Amino acid sequence: MTAIWVLGETRDGALRRVTSELITAARQLSDGATLTVVLVGPGLDQAANAVAAQCADRVLVLDDARLADYSPDGWAAAIADVARSHDPDVILGSATSRGRDLTPRVAANLGVGLASDVVDLTLGDGVLDAVRPIYAGKALARVRVHSRPHIATVRPNSYPAATAGGSTAAVERVTVGDYAPGAVVTGTEPAASSRPDVAEADIIVGGGRGMGAPEHFALLEALADELGAAVGASRAVVDAGWRPHSEQVGQTGKTVSPTLYIACGISGAVQHLAGMKTAKVIVAVNKDREAPIFGVADYGIVGDVFQVVPELTAALQRQRRA
Ligand SMILES: Cc1cc2nc3c(=O)[nH]c(=O)nc-3n(C[C@H](O)[C@H](O)[C@H](O)COP(=O)(O)OP(=O)(O)OC[C@H]3O[C@@H](n4cnc5c(N)ncnc54)[C@H](O)[C@@H]3O)c2cc1C
Repeated sequence: MTAIWVLGETRDGALRRVTSELITAARQLSDGATLTVVLVGPGLDQAANAVAAQCADRVLVLDDARLADYSPDGWAAAIADVARSHDPDVILGSATSRGRDLTPRVAANLGVGLASDVVDLTLGDGVLDAVRPIYAGKALARVRVHSRPHIATVRPNSYPAATAGGSTAAVERVTVGDYAPGAVVTGTEPAASSRPDVAEADIIVGGGRGMGAPEHFALLEALADELGAAVGASRAVVDAGWRPHSEQVGQTGKTVSPTLYIACGISGAVQHLAGMKTAKVIVAVNKDREAPIFGVADYGIVGDVFQVVPELTAALQRQRRA
């Protein structure tokens, strides 16, 4: 029987949505496969129980105090070690910052290849066929992985997140042998904002150079707060230092696939579209009716952001109070 592993991701002990997306990807890859989710680190009971309810067959927790802090080489060596003894057919990681760092190291440890940043997967007879966007999403490349275990990183938001299905998988704790941790991440600084992460938000209000100045993003923040949305940014405003890189959407930023993306003063350059054109509904506000963003928008408002955005926010406030 095919054995598929999903490398789970947690943040502050809680399961990240990308893990639930990987579970869906794994389930679609092979109906009858046994699905194991691998979590790394101590104190992950909450995440292990959450994942156990999402139709995984087994949860393996590398429950070791030495793995509490992320260490690219140490974690990869530990995961590869356990993979050698369990011999899975497929290992899926996510193409997040962490997954892009860790999964290729696991592949290197096992001496096998990897398909990175894929959006679709099929399991054939001894091969894994993967589809990955190239040239800023203008073309799709088909990549075939022959080496085993077949390893791939899956782009976030490519699959719907699995939900709890009433099943409860067995949670097994695994001990890790001796390993050299190498570099260890000893701390991370949370973003100052209390808004959702742009990569995981269901609604994003994106701002571009058309906002005119960094202080004008307060208009977008007010709209975002009404909607419970994240604020996203084009590279132009990130390069100008108006917004942090963590908010950048696009080819060299984050790939997002929210239910609603409201692009304000963003022209719609191909590199920006590469990161957001799979949003379910796109609303664009731009004073130039020829702006390329209108080519992908479901709803376009030709107008000045300084007039349209406050009106949208006020309308939402009225609706909330009504
Ligand atoms: C290798 C490479 C990678 C890149 N990666 C990315 C990436 O990840 N993400 C990204 O975003 N870009 C990326 N870029 C840059 C990209 O090519 C564009 O330069 C950038 O997206 C433009 O940002 P913008 O739309 O904010 O600015 P502009 O292109 O300057 O557009 C501003 C828009 O605002 C409108 N506007 C102006 N004033 C108003 C107003 N008052 N009301 C309404 N509308 C108004 C204008 O009509 C215009 O359409 C990359 C480029 C390269 C070469």
